[in-house]
Amino acid sequence: MEYLIKGKIYVDNNFQEGFLLVKNKKFVEIFLGKERPNYPIIDYKNCYLLPGFIDSHIHLLELGLLNIFPDLSSISSLNDLFDVIAETKRNLSFFPFLIFFNFDLEKIKEKRYPKRKELDKIVDKKTLIISQRDGHTTILNTYGLIKIFEKNVVSGMELDAYKEPTGVLRGEANELVHKYYKKNLPRDIKILAFQEAEKVAMKNGITTLCAMVGEEEDNSYEILLESLNSFKIDIIIFPQIKDINKVKNLGLKRIGGCILIDGSLSSYTAALSQPYEDNPNTRGILYFSDEELYNFLKKANDENLQTALHAIGDRAIEQVVNTYEKFLKDNSLRHRIEHCEVLNNQLIKKIKKLNLIISCQPAFEYYWGGENKLYEKRLGKRIKFTNPYRSLLNENIILVGGSDAPITPPNPLLGIYSALNHPNEKERINLKEAVNLFTKNAAYGIFLENKIGEIKKDYEADLVVLESLPIDNYDIKIKAVIKKGEIIWQGD
Ligand SMILES: [Zn+2]
Ligand SMILES: [Zn+2]
Repeated sequence: MEYLIKGKIYVDNNFQEGFLLVKNKKFVEIFLGKERPNYPIIDYKNCYLLPGFIDSHIHLLELGLLNIFPDLSSISSLNDLFDVIAETKRNLSFFPFLIFFNFDLEKIKEKRYPKRKELDKIVDKKTLIISQRDGHTTILNTYGLIKIFEKNVVSGMELDAYKEPTGVLRGEANELVHKYYKKNLPRDIKILAFQEAEKVAMKNGITTLCAMVGEEEDNSYEILLESLNSFKIDIIIFPQIKDINKVKNLGLKRIGGCILIDGSLSSYTAALSQPYEDNPNTRGILYFSDEELYNFLKKANDENLQTALHAIGDRAIEQVVNTYEKFLKDNSLRHRIEHCEVLNNQLIKKIKKLNLIISCQPAFEYYWGGENKLYEKRLGKRIKFTNPYRSLLNENIILVGGSDAPITPPNPLLGIYSALNHPNEKERINLKEAVNLFTKNAAYGIFLENKIGEIKKDYEADLVVLESLPIDNYDIKIKAVIKKGEIIWQGD
């Protein structure tokens, strides 16, 4: 069936009144102005029609679980936390363990983590996992500690004065917890989580997303791959493993996602060239040796795989860039650096020269940028160089936008708003540039720029219909989300 969609259409980086003719899942013609052929019309009166949003970085399993388990991001006291855990234990008794995301120590009035023994009072016969907002610290109850670590002490495990684990885990110990639950989660629960995540993405105007899934002992990427046809939106799989042969055998064209080069700023594990402002004893952690990283990237490149690596601190980014410098001629495979938060002019020049893609999450600045927030606490004066979008675009570096959900909500409107309102005024970008992060550029980041990301003749009819634009606020009503010509979500 052919039909027209009426509204203010985003074409050639501008909004113009007109009609889109949709047929066979595609835009077949664009009529700007009032003239149009005689077809049925869906009239989105004064609404804005943008290309369907593309989120370049979502942890699909975790996002799904976050929508099955309560989100802790608004919890502001330990008592409230304990109440939420107790209630969930009653409601989700069929789950093999309990897992909560987005615990935010900055928001907790007691300014401390819950103690293992406090957690034991609520949950003592099941593993209880609490993950900090950045995903780089977890807290376990005693049952969970024994189940996962069998009384072994592992690097990153915080110990009390009696050398007993407090339940707070960072670095390697934190990694092991994440590995444990992903490995042990039953297949049907994983699929349920993917479906939940898709629903949330759709509601937020996302019609295509990059799913960062799995790791060495967690084959979630295979489960997702097998069930890809059951989703309404397009999901591009980034398998977070280092096994190049396995990825090739599955027929995937890319490898990586949050393959960790370093950790995070909030957990003091992002690798910085200079010590942390509020913890001068550390400069963070590098997870790869130079040689390991070279071998991995070189082989992936030789095998024609696009790669994506998590690098936050300038020392980690430098390691990635220096490694590519050893062999990369052009970047025809469109290798990406995910996050890439702490930069400097020299690194920007090198990234430009190598033509690497930066996969950024502007909402990080919304939550952590500016005065007295996380970036300033950890970095001091170096906040001048966090997420310098203006400087990067001035060098014509390609930036693709994402949320890193569930670290920040999978909401491109928040992403666009955050890029426009960067706390560092010098690094603000304009509306069309910010929209492009989540549309055109994001499509380029997955080799789909000739198919999606723009409202153009013969492009797939993916649209998000907005009542207004996310300039002064991001709480904007989404009227409808259209994927390949079909309305997949409708606001009231
Ligand atoms: Zn990451
Ligand atoms: Zn991530």
